Amino acid sequence: MQRSLMSIAVTAALALGAVLPHAVHAAPAAAKPAARQTTQLPRNAAPTHYAVSLTPDAANRTFSASVVISLDITQATDSLVLHAADLKFSSAALSAGAGQPAQAATAIDLDADQQTATFRFGRTLQPGSYQLQLAYTGLIGTQAAGLFALDYQNGGAAKRALYTQFENSEARRVIPSWDEPFYKATFALEATIPAGQMAVSNMPVAATTRLADGRELVRFATSPKMSTYLLFFGLGEFERATTTEGGTEIGVITQNGTLNQAQFALDSSRAVLREYNDYFGIKYPLPKLDNIGAPGQSQFFSAMENWGAIFTFEYAILLDPRTATQEDREGVFVTAAHEIAHQWFGNLVTMAWWDDLWLNEGFASWMESRTTARLHPEWDWHLRAVHTREGAMASDALASTHPVIQRIATVEQASQAFDNITYQKGEAVIRMLEEYVGADAWRNGVRAYIARHAYGNTVSDDLWRQVEKAAHKPVTAIAHDFTLQPGVPLIRVADAVCRNGKATIVLTQGEFAKDDAPRKPLSWRVPVIAGTVGGATVRTVVAGGKTTITLPECGAVLVNAGQSGYYRTLYTPKGFAALAGRFADLPAIDQMGLLADAAALGMSGHMPAPGYLELVAGTPVAAAPQVWEDIAGTLAGLHASYEGKPEQRAAFDSFARARLAPVLARVGWTAAPGEAAPVANLRATLIAALGDMGDPGVLAEARRRYALRHSDQDAMPVALRRPILGVIAANADAATWDALLAEARAETSAMVKAEQYGLLGSSRDPALARRALDLALTDEAGATNSASMISHVANQHPDLAFDYAVAHREQVEQKIDATSRSRFFPGLARRSADPGMVAKLNTYADQHLAADARGDVKIAIASIEYRVKVRKERLPEIDAWLAHHH
Ligand SMILES: [Zn+2]
Repeated sequence: MQRSLMSIAVTAALALGAVLPHAVHAAPAAAKPAARQTTQLPRNAAPTHYAVSLTPDAANRTFSASVVISLDITQATDSLVLHAADLKFSSAALSAGAGQPAQAATAIDLDADQQTATFRFGRTLQPGSYQLQLAYTGLIGTQAAGLFALDYQNGGAAKRALYTQFENSEARRVIPSWDEPFYKATFALEATIPAGQMAVSNMPVAATTRLADGRELVRFATSPKMSTYLLFFGLGEFERATTTEGGTEIGVITQNGTLNQAQFALDSSRAVLREYNDYFGIKYPLPKLDNIGAPGQSQFFSAMENWGAIFTFEYAILLDPRTATQEDREGVFVTAAHEIAHQWFGNLVTMAWWDDLWLNEGFASWMESRTTARLHPEWDWHLRAVHTREGAMASDALASTHPVIQRIATVEQASQAFDNITYQKGEAVIRMLEEYVGADAWRNGVRAYIARHAYGNTVSDDLWRQVEKAAHKPVTAIAHDFTLQPGVPLIRVADAVCRNGKATIVLTQGEFAKDDAPRKPLSWRVPVIAGTVGGATVRTVVAGGKTTITLPECGAVLVNAGQSGYYRTLYTPKGFAALAGRFADLPAIDQMGLLADAAALGMSGHMPAPGYLELVAGTPVAAAPQVWEDIAGTLAGLHASYEGKPEQRAAFDSFARARLAPVLARVGWTAAPGEAAPVANLRATLIAALGDMGDPGVLAEARRRYALRHSDQDAMPVALRRPILGVIAANADAATWDALLAEARAETSAMVKAEQYGLLGSSRDPALARRALDLALTDEAGATNSASMISHVANQHPDLAFDYAVAHREQVEQKIDATSRSRFFPGLARRSADPGMVAKLNTYADQHLAADARGDVKIAIASIEYRVKVRKERLPEIDAWLAHHH
């Protein structure tokens, strides 16, 4: 699964080091895997095959279905317990096999809390093979969970298409099943559908029969053995384009009329599949691989890796020539690269239980980054590694963090596990381990792991075992330190001692935590790469808390050269000054790493906060676009943290604008012919950041171009459309807001319309923000777009958005998918700087959340407390520095 844009769009806050108090996490005595719960259902029976027959009634949002489940009972039992949610059973019968007499159930007990159905047959069932036949009805939802409907306009007509979303525990809303990743089985799906519509599932259509009433019965080929959460069904007025790669048919499927916008996704899928067939050493095993684009959105995810039938919301698969930017092209490619990686890592080999979700998500995230860097070298994607690591550390240095591998007991906890730690820390740790063992050894280990466990289930140690065997290096011990313990190591670098032309440095390992609570730091074995600027690098593993290394030359010492290490580096003032003096000579990735460490360590009080601003002041205007993008994001985050301090903010903004404006002047508003792709992203980011800071030149130019957008086609080219609209919407008065609303109403493309309603939530004016909230409660924006409008409001007005959503809780809950429910409300409050919000969040949790579903509330509270602390303790330090230096 790829997380939704909203859930990862916290760039500026992250760069600021979304400051949080550190975790009082209990350190495990020794980093060893604990015994883990791997099932919720009794392990006395297991399915081998599901034959599902589905008849959706889209107009009434219900369906009827029947299923014949082939199963093996392994221990004598009085009942069969399956998962089922919101299903009504009309019959249930058990037989010893096809053609054998069936015995009707004597009792069917439904447990809504446990989401189970228990079937009894008036006798003890002995071990053996059986068939369970069930007939039932269920509901079609309006949010992306289970079987759901998405409504949209096409060619002026109202349309409704159906899709499924089963991860993590929603297959039980459509098929009574052993709905846990461990229980793999084959699936034979058939569906009765209206003539003229297209039905899509994991496997190709095997046969279509026209029924007497004019409908069609579509039978799909039987799937390979797989987990329930990977099953997919889609139905609607679709069109499909195909290509082939290595004998596999690759398809993209869209609503009618938008197929031409999916060409880049189709081409990307083909290139990615070719790359993965080689990397994994086992060819993609299904006959076809579709990617189904759907209008709308989810607060939880943007795309889902259903085996052979990837589901992607339109904004992550289509490129509309009226709106598509470089960032959109990157988004389409990385989403395809992520979901296709899952076809092996997740679908062919699956974690036994959600404790090891990171095996799916951390790996797919790493593979997505690696593949994008390889296949699009012009995007310089390797530089994103620092960004990924920062995203992870921003969460991991807080009291609310958890280990990469964590104990999951409930469906809510499984939903909350789709977070920065699982995705971004998982990716960063894999990158470090790959660098430690070498890319070839890592790939050989991965190939052995996939080959050994194909069609099966695993835990993390199954991967480490194969990589260790391939690498002949003790990778398991390091992997355990970083995946079974929470938190971020801190490597302190003592001043180098130079003797006979060689530098000796002492590295000491502590822990980077954002609070002041005195406690014993955890212990990690940390792979470190260090060198002098421009000189050779040396590799070591800091173990036992301290290591001395000798570099072949003297000079400014850089630790974590290449930035593959998952740790923070703290230099002495002298060491930091030496690096700052050579900053322009560092590779771009190390400039970004040094900036990120200085920002985070400055905000947490480990080093002077102005150290970061000194680096920014020394960054050449001609530095790499990604370096300036990161700086713009961090400065925008600092600007935001000055909320309510107008005088101090003015001084800070003046410093920030004086750094960023010359960079914008250098890249200009108009793209130069043949300019590098990252420059387009930088231009958009600079316009947004300077617009945020009220830069008069940027505001005037954005308004000038917006006013001319209909009369001069060069005024608002596609690449500038989003940044200009962002500035206009943020600074809108009532008349401008009304004009934006009129444009949103008139828009016919579902994808563009969703974006325009989001813009209405971006106003800085609280009165307009409130109008956006009122509008979000109506059906106007579309069932799946309202929650996004509320999230947009929360970016500028977290307190207003949270209070409003809680006051209208029942209405708002209709606008979000079930998987996001325990996360959406605390997510709105996360950017608050009001200490009073902590009590409000606790009250909300007490009233509406189970005790074991409060992970996101803890994260929001930790974020708020850290922001309050930064405002009180760090901003005055920056104010004093600004007064003396600028
Ligand atoms: Zn994923």
